Amino acid sequence: MSKASRSRPSRTSSAAAGPARSPRSAPVPAGPGGGPCPCGRAEPYRDCCGRFHRGDAAAPTAERLMRSRYSAFVVLDVPYLLRTWHPTTRPAGLDLEPAMRWAGLEILRTEGGSAFHREGVVEFRAHYVHEGEAGGQHEVSRFVRVDGLWTYLDGQNSGS
Ligand SMILES: [Zn+2]
Repeated sequence: MSKASRSRPSRTSSAAAGPARSPRSAPVPAGPGGGPCPCGRAEPYRDCCGRFHRGDAAAPTAERLMRSRYSAFVVLDVPYLLRTWHPTTRPAGLDLEPAMRWAGLEILRTEGGSAFHREGVVEFRAHYVHEGEAGGQHEVSRFVRVDGLWTYLDGQNSGS
């Protein structure tokens, strides 16, 4: 990462050109790690949904669970998706479509789902590009706590 900023003996002193010096827009590595979280919050992935995916913490609200599940689709974390699924509706397995490129999440509405609730509803729109075509999934999802932890119960497509 830091090779570019080594001060090299200035033969071509480039006072004008130098993008190398400008600290303002170092490219952020894409994907998991230090890059922005796919869920759209400002924190880096590792401090946002990454904590939930690693099991270091549990999503405190239904909305955070929703966001972390969206991020799990982005980083293809199938085990996380399965373990945050309500036991009564959880599929035996999940094949994620590798051609699916998730392009952003909008939370449209939440109901309940806070630290003080046992149930919650999150309405969202997820944007994606599939084989070159942009699309969106608009869903109203229901979340229920199981042993204190938020789980995804089911969802209804809301047209688009
Ligand atoms: Zn996140």
